Amino acid sequence: SFADPPPAENISADDIFIAVKTTKKFHQSRLSLLLETWISRNVHAINTNCSAAHSRQALSCKMAVEYDKFIESGKKWFCHVDDDNYVNVRALVKHLSQYPHTQDMYLGKPSLDRPIEATERLGDNKMKPVNFWFATGGAGFCVSRGLALKMSPWASGGHFMNTAEKIRLPDDCTIGYIIESVLGVPLTRSNLFHSHLENLQQVSRSEIHKQITLSYGMFENKSNIINLKGAFPVEEDPSRFKSVHCLLYPDTPWCPLQVPY
Ligand code: UDP
Ligand code: MN
Repeated sequence: SFADPPPAENISADDIFIAVKTTKKFHQSRLSLLLETWISRNVHAINTNCSAAHSRQALSCKMAVEYDKFIESGKKWFCHVDDDNYVNVRALVKHLSQYPHTQDMYLGKPSLDRPIEATERLGDNKMKPVNFWFATGGAGFCVSRGLALKMSPWASGGHFMNTAEKIRLPDDCTIGYIIESVLGVPLTRSNLFHSHLENLQQVSRSEIHKQITLSYGMFENKSNIINLKGAFPVEEDPSRFKSVHCLLYPDTPWCPLQVPY
């Protein structure tokens, strides 16, 4: 196999702003698991004060706050994930190091196998069809600071909500619309981002170190989780995130001691 390309930039976890979208009803069932695992090594939490409703508006409100807080933070990369994602921060740092943060970069995994077809609502009842790719929010995506600054007229302050209303699509689609359709910057695909819309059984143990995000969920009444015989049995660790965390950070106090052979 080929060696990894040399880093374009030496960044650390501290250069990345990772926003986790969550809501009160998931604080116990989902967020606490993340706080015990990958977030314990990183991240500060912010309260968006957005409505707890699952409306398009409430979700766009959260994305708008995430964007504004990122710009304020001065960090080099903006990454968005859901509260059912595990972020492998070491893999994320390594991946983003390939690109200068000043360049226009939009990284993630498309949720569809073709561009989404939407209708842009212009003034005076005019409509215009638009096609663009977007990275699925449920797998996580990242935007470089260089690109994020260009998004400002459509994303900062109250603008994100207005933009979202123009196409009437969820927040992750709105990000894709601003980047691909308005700014003309293409999505750079990566197979290292994973949502529970894909079959997570296909991620193998030997590849876990390289994956940037993982997820868990239900599909047709069966649990869709990665296949990992790890530190904890499925009954104790149904998402597999604790086992993943112990694989990546064996020095974690609550991980079972590793026998050397
Ligand atoms: N979410 C939210 N408000 C809600 C419902 C969901 O902010 O009222 C968030 C949730 O915390 C998660 C994301 O939206 O980060 C996606 O929700 P979920 O995983 O339940 O649904 P999916 O779209 O993956 O089926
Ligand atoms: Mn989900």
